[in-house]
Amino acid sequence: MTGAKLVLATRNTHKVGELRAILADAGLTVELVGADAFPEIPDVRETGVTFAENALLKAHALAQGTGLPAVADDSGLCVDVLGGAPGIFSARWAGRHGDDAANLRLLLDQLSDIDAGHRGAHFACAAALALPDGTERVVEGRLEGTLRFEPAGSGGFGYDPVLEPTGSSRTCAELSPEEKNAISHRGKAFRALVPVVRELVG
Ligand code: IMP
Repeated sequence: MTGAKLVLATRNTHKVGELRAILADAGLTVELVGADAFPEIPDVRETGVTFAENALLKAHALAQGTGLPAVADDSGLCVDVLGGAPGIFSARWAGRHGDDAANLRLLLDQLSDIDAGHRGAHFACAAALALPDGTERVVEGRLEGTLRFEPAGSGGFGYDPVLEPTGSSRTCAELSPEEKNAISHRGKAFRALVPVVRELVG
């Protein structure tokens, strides 16, 4: 498969690099570009109520705007005892979009009376592929774990310092980027997208 082009709905160069590496590892020669190659296309409002709906909204908007196959992801933290919250509200749980420190502090305060046996949580990621003709697919990945009582580690972002993956004694913020990519919700979702890209973009 040569010459095929795919656009990823993010301006985050790390996400572009991560998906590019996964596609290359799978032997796909598709050229992946980030959404910042199309500055004239506005960001879409995330009006969906699930990660999958929001990923599909972003992928369709970009596929329509560029005329290219488009991939988008949406992710967040789902806490068992909170019924899956913060979920799609993960980035603005404390009120201001992207205030990672405030989001994390609020979550820990909310869970302060919850003992270790009931602190199960997972990161979830939906990755969607949309074609300009409206064809769509969506896949999901999860990273299961438990929540610490206090943050630990300086790597990563968001809720990484409080999620300890099942089977690990370190938080996500104490893992190297390679260790985290190997087990992460986003890594799993992007790898699950490989056969879909092979089928639809070849
Ligand atoms: P996005 O969909 O990748 O923009 O993520 C939305 C929000 O979910 C982020 O702002 C974080 O609060 C949280 N989140 C998603 N993935 C991760 C992760 O890998 N580590 C920590 N927090 C995450």
